[in-house]
Amino acid sequence: MDIGSRESFFDRLRSSIEQQRERQGKLALLVINIRQFRQFNIAHGYAAGDLLLSRFFERLGELSRDNDHIARIGNSDFAMLLPQVLNEGHATLAAIKLLGSLDEPFMIDDQKIRLGASVGIALYPDHAVDADELAIKAETALNDTHQSVESYAVYSSEIQAQRAGRWDIESDLRQAVDQNQFELYFQPQIDMDNGELFGAEALIRWQNGERGFIRPEIFIPVAEQCGNIFEITRWTINAALWATKQWPAKLKVAVNISTKTLAEPGLVETVENALSIYGVDHGRLTLEITESALLEDVSASVQSLQELRALGVNISIDDFGTGYSSMAYFKNIPANELKIDQSFVRYMLENKMDQHIVKTVIKMAQGFELKVVAEGIEDEMTFAALQQLGCDIAQGYHLARPMPQEAFVQWLDEFERGASKQAVR
Ligand code: C2E
Ligand code: MG
Ligand code: MG
Repeated sequence: MDIGSRESFFDRLRSSIEQQRERQGKLALLVINIRQFRQFNIAHGYAAGDLLLSRFFERLGELSRDNDHIARIGNSDFAMLLPQVLNEGHATLAAIKLLGSLDEPFMIDDQKIRLGASVGIALYPDHAVDADELAIKAETALNDTHQSVESYAVYSSEIQAQRAGRWDIESDLRQAVDQNQFELYFQPQIDMDNGELFGAEALIRWQNGERGFIRPEIFIPVAEQCGNIFEITRWTINAALWATKQWPAKLKVAVNISTKTLAEPGLVETVENALSIYGVDHGRLTLEITESALLEDVSASVQSLQELRALGVNISIDDFGTGYSSMAYFKNIPANELKIDQSFVRYMLENKMDQHIVKTVIKMAQGFELKVVAEGIEDEMTFAALQQLGCDIAQGYHLARPMPQEAFVQWLDEFERGASKQAVR
């Protein structure tokens, strides 16, 4: 297969920019890096490396639309030109699909090879107005993915601002809500019975001007300690319900709640107000509470959980299996959903013990009439195994990665039109 040359790609990029200049349109440039390609070459030899590159190129080709253009521009770097994007959401969705397509392994010499990749995105005319500059911006965004939770990044001039100096995370966190630095990403959930969409989990992202993306696992514990977790929780509930309002009415939204805020007197009122402001049916909201945290302060938490259940809101126990809770615990916790921790799901096909835990949790949940969600499903085989075990809802990179609202709405649209549905089944 002809892996288009760098020169002809740049010629195409220049002429596409000209066209969009005349039409006053946009275009996106994606730079894609295959991770650990060198190590692959060392382990399997150059011939296998070349084969892998051409398979990768073929897969990019399957994803691209008629006018898109792809080429290999470096040893393990590819570029993809999307000549007619309407907005950043389109380009982001393309990157998400591309990364999603890599979840399915490649077969090289009868071996399953999994490839990781990172994608940097830059848009004409938003980030640069000529081809060379646009390529530099996409490369810069690619570099940013090393520090990011996501495997893709859109160029941001703010990130390029000073990164040096000691970081006072607490004071930055206090300003983050006021300065609008949080964003919610949404990861789809599918009903395993019928393959229909069930809803999405809302996952917070912090885009700090100087530091770029900060993982929630880093800043949520800091927010819990420095006291502004409640403010963040309030923001999250409101932002999630605002977003949900734009989705089809049958879809649910799951919001993570720090257990520290469960004991806050204002929580139930915040939830009730937000539901009424955005006019979302109470049954569409699920609050996820992590199992281990629940064990710390049971009595205060149970009281709010009961009030929330009385409102008609669903309660899900997240990361289930990590907290060593006893069966008696279910007598008190008014939950109606369990999320099996992804550490068990991830290796359940290879590890008998994990598989046994997953099976047992599903059986137990059914006994307590709880819905079971499996998260961290990264491939078709795990999906099928969970379906067989009677798991109710699926979530994971195999279906889709978390994405911003704009990309999620487009994803929904495509899913409903059947395009993504086929990929899922
Ligand atoms: P979680 O609630 O268990 O969320 C699932 C995490 O697994 C997310 O990470 C998600 O991106 C990731 N994930 C989903 N599918 C897959 C998969 O197939 N493979 C792999 N490797 N990972 C997958 P994320 O977004 O980084 O969130 C991490 C944790 O931070 C969450 O774990 C949750 O405990 C917390 N968090 C996220 N958003 C919020 C929030 O708004 N409020 C609070 N209090 N905590 C949040
Ligand atoms: Mg969660
Ligand atoms: Mg979890």
